[in-house]
Amino acid sequence: MTKCTFCGKESHPSKGTHVIKNSGTVNYFCSSKCRANSEKLKRDKRKIRWTEAFHITREKARAREAEPKEKANIK
Ligand SMILES: [Zn+2]
Repeated sequence: MTKCTFCGKESHPSKGTHVIKNSGTVNYFCSSKCRANSEKLKRDKRKIRWTEAFHITREKARAREAEPKEKANIK
């Protein structure tokens, strides 16, 4: 199982496309939707709701917001 570089969804390598750049980095896209959003439309995966990266950054931001409040309660 390979993880899609854009949406983070795991799917079989026989499905989707592997894009190998001259620099040596391999990008795997599970669908044409992911490939178009990443390469053609050049969208930031952290700003698109249906990607895993969006939810990860959102959770991190929430944790950062929650931390100072918890410390304040202890004091
Ligand atoms: Zn994908």
